[in-house]
Amino acid sequence: MGAVRSKLRNIYDILHEYFGEQQWWPAEDRDEIVIGAVLTQNTAWINVESAIKNLKKYNICSFKGILNTKISVLKEQIKPAGFFNQKAQYLRNISKFFIENGEFEGLSKYGLYDLRDKLLHISGIGYETADSILLYAFDMPIFVVDAYTKRILNRHNITDSINYNILQRIFMDNCTNDAYLFAQYHALIVETAKKFCRVKPLCDDCPLKGV
Ligand code: SF4
Repeated sequence: MGAVRSKLRNIYDILHEYFGEQQWWPAEDRDEIVIGAVLTQNTAWINVESAIKNLKKYNICSFKGILNTKISVLKEQIKPAGFFNQKAQYLRNISKFFIENGEFEGLSKYGLYDLRDKLLHISGIGYETADSILLYAFDMPIFVVDAYTKRILNRHNITDSINYNILQRIFMDNCTNDAYLFAQYHALIVETAKKFCRVKPLCDDCPLKGV
């Protein structure tokens, strides 16, 4: 077994045992996962929760709801998630894409990388957002990289790259190609970074100390 493969397996096992099974993505339905993936760009999840709560209050937390709502109203409701002018437009773009392509049923006919390519052509959808949608809303096996992933891999000397695709390949080439595993692993990394691997790391208390 290669050194990176064994290290990634070790990290996963330790974190899974420490934190237990993760319930991600926190959402009531798949429209909400996609909406949350856009809203969480450059903001903390707690702000996304407030914005989603507003959308639900107005019964517009869906692709159809977003497209049938005046953009000024949409902006107002998603304000807590920040960058609301851009994000309102991004939400409309992705909602239009889903509706025009038969929503989840219509889009499920595409393979992982074809669908990824289509998502990446939508204005406002970058790698992390596209991959979150593919993994959590479509249950497709792709690893989601975020700033926390970069930090932990870097601090554990697995790579010093900050390139999204290189980091993603490290996981996809060295872990079992499995959506459940990738979903759990991403969530466990987020938990670790929030609790221990902060800007100023709390290594003494962290389950990965010594890895
Ligand atoms: S807090 Fe320390 S031990 Fe924990 S993941 Fe970060 S660098 Fe590793």
